Amino acid sequence: MATQNTETEQLLRDRLEEVQRRLAELAKAPEPGSGIGFGKRIGDGTSEAISRRNDIGVGNSLLVTEEKLIRALAKLEEGSYGRCDHCGGLIAPGRLEVAPESALCIECAGRAASR
Ligand SMILES: [Zn+2]
Repeated sequence: MATQNTETEQLLRDRLEEVQRRLAELAKAPEPGSGIGFGKRIGDGTSEAISRRNDIGVGNSLLVTEEKLIRALAKLEEGSYGRCDHCGGLIAPGRLEVAPESALCIECAGRAASR
């Protein structure tokens, strides 16, 4: 059990690191159109705003993933890993295999998603 938790923790930490690396990259990514411009400001902001919105979308889902990973690590620490945050039921091992950051069982996750 302890070994398995260590492995899971390592996996979660690796993922968290990857997510945070991508978030950092996103944060420092040059804004499209604002870079090495030569005074040309075509359509000032329109396409810029769109791609920025896409960046924000990606960033948001990364942030959500980051939050889940942090929560999963906290659950490992407090010994509630593998249990649903919502109903306290067991999270199916197969689900944890696919998404080790899951803090909700499949029923509660489905309910949350369809809300
Ligand atoms: Zn549940």
